[in-house]
Amino acid sequence: MKRIYLDNAATTRVSDEVIAAMLPYLTTYYANPSSTHHEYGREARKGLDQARAQVAAALGADPAEIYFTGCGTEADNWAIRGTAYAKKDKGRHLITSAIEHHAVMHTCAALEREGFEVTYLPVDSYGRVSPDDLEKAIRPDTTLVSIMMANNEIGTLEPIAQLGAIAKAHGVWMHTDAVQAIGSVPIDLRTLPVDMLSLSGHKFHAPKGVGALYIRKGVHIARLIEGGSQERGQRAGTENMGSIVGMGVAIERATQNLEAHNAYLTALRDRLIAGIMQNIPEVLLNGHPTERLPGNANVSIRYVEGEALLMRLDLDAHIAASTGSACASGSLDPSHVLLAIGLPHEVAHGSLRFSFSEENTAEEVDETIAALTRIVKFLRALSPLYKG
Ligand code: PLP
Repeated sequence: MKRIYLDNAATTRVSDEVIAAMLPYLTTYYANPSSTHHEYGREARKGLDQARAQVAAALGADPAEIYFTGCGTEADNWAIRGTAYAKKDKGRHLITSAIEHHAVMHTCAALEREGFEVTYLPVDSYGRVSPDDLEKAIRPDTTLVSIMMANNEIGTLEPIAQLGAIAKAHGVWMHTDAVQAIGSVPIDLRTLPVDMLSLSGHKFHAPKGVGALYIRKGVHIARLIEGGSQERGQRAGTENMGSIVGMGVAIERATQNLEAHNAYLTALRDRLIAGIMQNIPEVLLNGHPTERLPGNANVSIRYVEGEALLMRLDLDAHIAASTGSACASGSLDPSHVLLAIGLPHEVAHGSLRFSFSEENTAEEVDETIAALTRIVKFLRALSPLYKG
């Protein structure tokens, strides 16, 4: 049975090369990298140092600015809570956007319950934050701006260089969640004015359960995990060595040949969007038409339920996609991102996200267009609202 995987924004396949790099750290160099009093430990430490250097090089950072974490969610929590707590004597006001991932949204909500104040900047109909809005929102008691580099649902890229420059001009720290951006957006922290940046291995062909937080030299945030002296005393816990080594190799590969990679994904994405638009009436593209991730297509198909579409795509056509129309919690509320860009509830409910990796092909895209066209026709024929 042929299956088509178009849910790479949720997670990617661990590449063969990454697995090959990881295996020795599970079988041969399995020592604790803190046990540098013996050769076994020193071998493991070398792997850890190399992975840190690879992540740093991919971002234009210094290895001493890279801290490994258990996932992207932990990196986001750490940047936001760590700043809020470290700077609470200066102020208790934070700024984020209305379309952040739950790792940021729910952390901000938790801080509000602890007495911090959060401004959620609105976005335009493409999902872009306005630099003017940020400028107006900054107050003397603001300590952090946290805005994502690329949105995980609609793929929109945020003007991070501009937003970061505004935060910097006001002496406010800037964090960006770059979990979806790694491997698509060129990032050079030597020139990009951000103080903290989160990433997650499983979005670029490393395993799940490993991430990193970049913290610019001179930025001191509070620790969240107490224990041993790992990660230069800032994040305790014996390192997840296989996955860290895998992430080092994966980020090196993901940031090489970015232009060719992006051109390939853009071609797949645009082929899918054009095919859907030509074959299915009453479809909207969500997100920015050009300032978007090359591998993201998010569409709202009127008069059908996203959940029903997904189920048919999965069961009838063995195509894996995703919907932003319902939260992972199983709630029937449409996603906060689709509502923030102004979609009415009934349109948001008919939304689908297709996300590509370089392992997808044009043939898969054509099969997806054909299957989706067939399924939408079938479902709309059952809809009392669709007049055809
Ligand atoms: N931030 C964004 C934008 C994401 O897309 C995700 C994962 O979907 C995360 C954070 C969380 O990363 P992790 O799955 O590593 O916890």
